Amino acid sequence: MAVSTFKRGLRFPSTRKEATEGKPVEWTPLLKQVVIPINQHLGAPNKCLVNVGDKVKRGQKIADAAAPGPMTVPVHASITGVVKKIEPRTQQNNSEGICVVIEAVGEGEGPGKDIFQALPILDPFTCTKEEALARIREAGIMGMGGAGFPTHIKLNPPPNKTIDTIIVDGAECEPYLTTDEAVIEEKPDMLILGLAIIMHITGVKKAIIGMEDNKAQLIPMIEAAIQKNDKAASAGEITVGLCKTRYPQGGEKLLITALTGREVPSGGMPMDVGCIVQNVGTVVAIAEAFKIGKPLIDRDLTVSGGACKTPKNIRAPIGTLLPDLTPGFIDVEFDKVRKLLFGGPMMGNAVPNLNVPIQKNTSGIVFMTAAETIAELESPCMRCGRCIRNCPIRLSPVLTNNALEAGDLDEAVRIGLMDCIECGSCTYMCPARIKLVQRFRVGKGRLRIKQAAAQAAAAAAKAAEAAKQPAPAN
Ligand code: SF4
Ligand code: SF4
Repeated sequence: MAVSTFKRGLRFPSTRKEATEGKPVEWTPLLKQVVIPINQHLGAPNKCLVNVGDKVKRGQKIADAAAPGPMTVPVHASITGVVKKIEPRTQQNNSEGICVVIEAVGEGEGPGKDIFQALPILDPFTCTKEEALARIREAGIMGMGGAGFPTHIKLNPPPNKTIDTIIVDGAECEPYLTTDEAVIEEKPDMLILGLAIIMHITGVKKAIIGMEDNKAQLIPMIEAAIQKNDKAASAGEITVGLCKTRYPQGGEKLLITALTGREVPSGGMPMDVGCIVQNVGTVVAIAEAFKIGKPLIDRDLTVSGGACKTPKNIRAPIGTLLPDLTPGFIDVEFDKVRKLLFGGPMMGNAVPNLNVPIQKNTSGIVFMTAAETIAELESPCMRCGRCIRNCPIRLSPVLTNNALEAGDLDEAVRIGLMDCIECGSCTYMCPARIKLVQRFRVGKGRLRIKQAAAQAAAAAAKAAEAAKQPAPAN
């Protein structure tokens, strides 16, 4: 089998996946409480549908669109219990967001007790496309690979975009993380069913499951699942595309290039080059939403890092707090933790404490020691060009950083700030330890605020202009 890749990026001396590689996904113990953020997706905000004191069942919808519009994804209770509080809490992106605190009553989750209030079973191959997309939304499914984009929107591109290839992102290129691998091993049939459903809904006849070559042992399992799924046979051609292990291969633009040779243009999206990319977990969630009527209420993730004595892949109800898993299930040498990360070490977020809830897009939790983290102290730029040579998007991180340092946001945007995929390769390679990607995230945030202010000013000017017009005569 040919092995492809993209240019630039990084080859880590070690991916540090050994601690959890090959380990099955373990259910968390029964939980006493969960803290569920009502907004976990990218898009318009939800409103809470429950009140303090309400009894809720695992699988029951507790938040949905605050206003009509497609860019929302509902949220469901992940344990059966009573709503104790509805209040702002710190989320994994370090912002404060409204969360529903549910205290458990009785049983409902855990090993062998995967009971939930199900959606009605729906056959995706006989229902209409609109019904299928509505089911994906109603099940609360969003991109689980990181960004949280609503999946029903991604699977319904505008009519002027012709899609010819579905790509399943199974690259899992971040160090430490091994959950996608474990999920493929546990649920290859659900992965293929989910992919056949996506192909049916979109009408796309070609799909590629993209994997890095450090997971090649999974290929026979996937091929066997393709062979025995009659829906896969009628859906079209499904193949496995093997890529060299290289970071950030899992970035959707780079995976598209590696597997199809196509390049997503600056400012463009995968659909601009005929592709839709979905993460492994999202594809499995789609299959479960139809086959067993399960909303997205659990998350598979890797818990690892040098300070974690019990690295493992776990299945946790959404809203699980780490203190409810430690000690016993997850044991950590807290005195050695230098950084607590939600997500992997390259693209994840450092969070301030343990009380940050697991979300639909939490791919991992990493307890990093000082030896595993990059030294904090920055020194002046040496003009070595390493950041430029390793940027997979072919940007010039040093120049973008200079523009931001000079307060010239327009220049930073002109030279590609918004094309940055925040992979962190430049920061990792910088011998001066300049926090390039961190500055780019701040710069993007400033730009969003500037754009929102400009929009608000334009709307106010329009309203003022309208107020000046004489009222129509009766
Ligand atoms: S500039 Fe952005 S895309 Fe390029 S290496 Fe840095 S973080 Fe990655
Ligand atoms: S890698 Fe760091 S030191 Fe080298 S040019 Fe880029 S910013 Fe400067």
